Amino acid sequence: MEKWPIGVFASIDAGLGVQLSVAHELGVPTIQLHTPKKSSRTPENAKRFLQQLQEYGLTITVVFAGFEGESYADIPTVAKTVGLVPPETREERKQELKEIADFAKLLGVDAVGLHIGFIPHDRQDPLYQDVLRVAQEVCDYCANQGQRIHLETGQESADTLLQFLKDVNRSNLFVNFDPANMILYGSGDPIEALKKVGAYVRSVHCKDAKWAAQAGKEWGVEVPFGTGDVNAELFLKTLAELGYDGALTIEREIPQEPERQKQEIGHAIRVIQEIKRKIFG
Ligand code: MG
Repeated sequence: MEKWPIGVFASIDAGLGVQLSVAHELGVPTIQLHTPKKSSRTPENAKRFLQQLQEYGLTITVVFAGFEGESYADIPTVAKTVGLVPPETREERKQELKEIADFAKLLGVDAVGLHIGFIPHDRQDPLYQDVLRVAQEVCDYCANQGQRIHLETGQESADTLLQFLKDVNRSNLFVNFDPANMILYGSGDPIEALKKVGAYVRSVHCKDAKWAAQAGKEWGVEVPFGTGDVNAELFLKTLAELGYDGALTIEREIPQEPERQKQEIGHAIRVIQEIKRKIFG
């Protein structure tokens, strides 16, 4: 496959991504697949789905987990509802994450991504230790079937994330770097953060955003890639300097406006192609 194959965040039954047919129309070679619903995660569906991917010439780079009950309504709600951090749902989600990894395996995919949730920045916080243990358990489960776990960035600073990665201490734990999330959540400058966690980055989201007036307290605003505060060109140049050679997966989270979503992803593809030419000639 070419260097830095472009991809889109896609969905087969629900969730945030574009439909597979749209990925096909956009002419990209890869997708990250947002978790199919439990009822869709069957061996028959995996087989049928793989056939469709082949017809469309698409390869899945990462299966991205998502869970019932997660809400991105505002930052405090994310802290309460997202990932493996909330204690009430942790057991059940841990089980589901393993099932998602199993389904990814049926699809021949060796990476599972997720928002683990807001990791406490204080390592002495009992919650930190609890999340650490659950991360180790799912890493070990995935390692047994030859898979990696990619943690989505943004909900904590690069320093907290780096500390957490070191403390979990598993060789199949990596990062899905989303520069826009650093801005949306107010977690720090995306390029500085990328440099800090660079050695762990195995997948990325090409997404852009503008800083909120009160960063960290309220959401920034997500905008089309190349039009926000990420600095798309510097982002890709930094990835090149780090020796990153994975996919560039465009994420545009406006599934309620499919036409605009498709148009803006098309624009992002052109932005990326132009920058790739500048970097690699
Ligand atoms: Mg993302």
